[in-house]
Amino acid sequence: MFSKIVIANRGEIALRILRAAHELGIKTVAVYSQADSDLMPVRLAGESVCIGPASPTESYLNSPAIISVAEVTGADAIHPGYGFLSENANFAEQVERSGFTFIGPHADTIRLMGDKISAIQAMRKAGVPTVPGSLGTLSEDEDDKVKSIAHEIGYPVILKAAAGGGGRGMRVVADEKSLRNALSLTRGEAKNAFGNATIYMEKFLGNPRHIEVQVLCDTHGNVVHLGDRDCSMQRRYQKILEEAPAYGIPSAQRDAIAKVCTQACHEINYCGAGTFEFLYQDGEFYFIEMNTRVQVEHPITEMITGIDIVGEQLLIAGGNPLRFSQQDIRFKGHSIECRINAEDPVTFMPHPGLVNRYHPPGGMGIRVDSHLYSGYRVPPYYDSLIAKVISYGDDRSMALARMRRAFEETVIDGIRCNIPLHTSLLNDEQFIQGGNSIHYLEDKMMGSKK
Ligand code: ADP
Repeated sequence: MFSKIVIANRGEIALRILRAAHELGIKTVAVYSQADSDLMPVRLAGESVCIGPASPTESYLNSPAIISVAEVTGADAIHPGYGFLSENANFAEQVERSGFTFIGPHADTIRLMGDKISAIQAMRKAGVPTVPGSLGTLSEDEDDKVKSIAHEIGYPVILKAAAGGGGRGMRVVADEKSLRNALSLTRGEAKNAFGNATIYMEKFLGNPRHIEVQVLCDTHGNVVHLGDRDCSMQRRYQKILEEAPAYGIPSAQRDAIAKVCTQACHEINYCGAGTFEFLYQDGEFYFIEMNTRVQVEHPITEMITGIDIVGEQLLIAGGNPLRFSQQDIRFKGHSIECRINAEDPVTFMPHPGLVNRYHPPGGMGIRVDSHLYSGYRVPPYYDSLIAKVISYGDDRSMALARMRRAFEETVIDGIRCNIPLHTSLLNDEQFIQGGNSIHYLEDKMMGSKK
């Protein structure tokens, strides 16, 4: 097993990794930017090293600086968290070439899944159901062919960047007359945002839910799934609230899709923690992408399984076989996660700044993953996620009741955040019924503006 790891991330996930490592007796090295010297994980890590200025490209995306930290501190491995370098196959390769372990899947797997077109092709081959679509690149010189593919799929269609992520690089096309313009706009955006203009096309599903399956695979060929999560509550394709298990899916179907995912893991020789993302509509699952890293919403799965996913990532990367088989995994209760973002609750503009007073909620069935403390200044340079409030109950209604109660006692003074949005959702009758689509939250917000 490792004796020391570098945590190549910041914020709540850096703290989450640090906690898992310390519990396993692994020493930690935090890397941080000049804007992050007051970060909680920097205070708590055994060692910490400043790797550059505030700008992510010069710090948290600066692979040579991060690898040098591993060298000078004598670390064994690097955990990339989520975002930043976590799905960068070249980084994973450089880490391994420099003699360290990359805590995640093999670089080739990251590359295969990082290109959404090759990911879809690999999944189809492995028997995973996918969204009807172009099944490949939309070449720039074949607009007429693209037109006939769109016609065949049927409008509306969605254009997507092959290298896309974070809800960006997607455009819905309503009809044939908007297609040509949409193609060039989406290619341009994809090139700008991801340095790759390759795009593909899928049927735009009108009313799906976003349901995903968590897997864990070791380096000895053992694969388990940890059940599903519903991440349909989204704004601009970004998840806001997630729950596990997904509500109201027949158990035979739930088991069947999870089984398909574990089979696909064997097929692609997957290793580490991963997530298969699906859209679910009219009782059918359609694969959209695989995330080859720990997800923001992993805690809800931890709550219903009792399995420490980040701890398992460390054990797997250290070469240990999984300590449990599928039969050992028990799913119990219901868990909900609310993502707390430092943003104006009405305009959704980022709202960084000084947190004068911070009092997190507690009590039975409440977990808070956050790097906040009173007197901490949220910097303006990074993602606005400042806390994740996670509730657990014997059933969904208790998990909801505990989350509502948690927000009654939460104090975050000095900056604005989206707790009012969560409170309104948690008291919304149709949300309480469960099983709503990816459009529900935005439709509800539009309605409340009218
Ligand atoms: P990203 O990698 O940017 O997160 P995804 O492919 O995971 O992109 O899609 C993000 C979200 O976009 C989904 O959760 C869903 O809300 C929406 N979406 C993606 N593909 C489709 C589709 N074919 N039809 C309808 N909505 C879609």
